Amino acid sequence: MGVKIKGNKIYLPKLGWMRFYNSRSIPDGFTIKACTVRKRQNGWYVSIRIEDKSIPDYLTKPLADVVKIIGCDLGITKLVHLSDGHQIKNPKFATTKKAKRTLKIRQRRVSRKVKGSNNRKKAAKKVGLFHQKVSDKRQAYQWKIAREIVSRNIDAIALENLNVSGMMRRCRVKIDEKTGRFLENGQSRKKSLNRSISDAGWSELTLKIEYLAAKQGKVIIKVNPKHSSTECRNCGHIDKSNRDGEKFICAECGYREHADIAAAKTIGHRALKWYAGTPRNQGFF
Ligand SMILES: [Zn+2]
Repeated sequence: MGVKIKGNKIYLPKLGWMRFYNSRSIPDGFTIKACTVRKRQNGWYVSIRIEDKSIPDYLTKPLADVVKIIGCDLGITKLVHLSDGHQIKNPKFATTKKAKRTLKIRQRRVSRKVKGSNNRKKAAKKVGLFHQKVSDKRQAYQWKIAREIVSRNIDAIALENLNVSGMMRRCRVKIDEKTGRFLENGQSRKKSLNRSISDAGWSELTLKIEYLAAKQGKVIIKVNPKHSSTECRNCGHIDKSNRDGEKFICAECGYREHADIAAAKTIGHRALKWYAGTPRNQGFF
């Protein structure tokens, strides 16, 4: 490796010793395993991966001991719906009116300055700083709610197996056969949905939940989210018309519930079915 740290100085191979801000000292007994240097808008950052071989790996609870499962449904209006009825709000760091306006103004300032000029560079840096701030806020918030979810009195967390990049794919191009011109294909509407999806940061949030769960010995079960929001929990009837905004009303049996909480419960229930051949519903909520 060759990376060394002494007080507020770090030694990087090929670069030598340099000063840095040592935000967290390395605990005794740990060795440096890897080191990543990143350039961000306001400077250079170094992150260090450390290891202590004497500490055993975190033990995950055996599946047979899993009794309490909580289901999570990720969304945009609310970031997370939990099967116990809790809802976690989505602050939409990059997609609120105010944030969009700030970004637009800053981007316009860039485009109005002469290309290649110092003023343009300065304005571009301000755009970058805005993105960095949004991303920092989002990261901090995700850690907070991941902790909130994982530290509940539960053994396992059921999450949707989401294909986020598939969801954000562009709409297929439509071409008028006679004129050869492009037709409206819904991409402009899809674009704003894609932005909301990426602003919600589902995959990063899922990763944080997985990380914290592993640390606390809790089990993560990923389930197929197909029809999770349109399937009736009472009779199993699957129908798009079961759902009316926030309300779930089964077209077949009339069962009613909050639609997203119902989806979270369905996800929890699928996890339960997956790990246990025998139903042990007592722990599910
Ligand atoms: Zn039903």
